[in-house]
Amino acid sequence: MADFFMVLFGLAAGSFLNVVIHRLPRDQSVIHPASACPACSQAIRWQDNIPVLSYVLLGGRCRHCRARISARYAAVEILNAALWFFLWKHSGPGIEFAFSALLFSLLLAIVFTDFETGLIPDELSLGGLAAGLVFAALVPGHFAAADWKGALISSVTAALTGGGLLYLTGLVGQLLFRKESMGMGDMKLLAMLGAFLGMPGVFFVFLIAPILALPAALFGRLVRKEETLPFGPYLAIAGGFIFLWGSEMQIFFWG
Ligand SMILES: [Zn+2]
Repeated sequence: MADFFMVLFGLAAGSFLNVVIHRLPRDQSVIHPASACPACSQAIRWQDNIPVLSYVLLGGRCRHCRARISARYAAVEILNAALWFFLWKHSGPGIEFAFSALLFSLLLAIVFTDFETGLIPDELSLGGLAAGLVFAALVPGHFAAADWKGALISSVTAALTGGGLLYLTGLVGQLLFRKESMGMGDMKLLAMLGAFLGMPGVFFVFLIAPILALPAALFGRLVRKEETLPFGPYLAIAGGFIFLWGSEMQIFFWG
């Protein structure tokens, strides 16, 4: 029964994430006004705003103007519900679950805003950074620390390291290619991930993310002739992976 409710909560939270993904990059409030069709501006009634179900029943179209609704809406709801269900099974009830659900929902929103607009809103990255510091103080066990002070030091150090590493990477890129290669948004995102992961997890993310991004970068450069590639989604995916399996990776590499 708890599993079932977790999926429902995950879907509802995913529905809110869609509002966040659409509005934050446009500097609009996520609370007011109520959701409206982007094509005809008709307000969406509650019975047309039920996660996934309404999308299926309406055939992926607005009830009023029949404009296509992006499949992203249903995809984000399903992905968020799947993540919450998985995390619920992974860590069980408790404060660790609450923070991991928050982290993964923030990362999901960041992946989609960065892919769609090339922006990572500060509300997500800096808000997540603050949440990561609180997480360290409340769940020191996740940072392999004896007490909250040790965990907080690890969290703060990793946040500074994450931001600093990408800042330096950006400087080197600017010297080599004479143009801006790393955005401020990516820096803040790796700082946020550092706060949640502590040391040395943030280094893993810094090393893994470019490997994940490489196929898309080559494809974008050679096939689609794109100049810029969002890096945030790959940082976010690597960060989520290390959050769950970072300690297993350390054991694997160093015994
Ligand atoms: Zn419409």
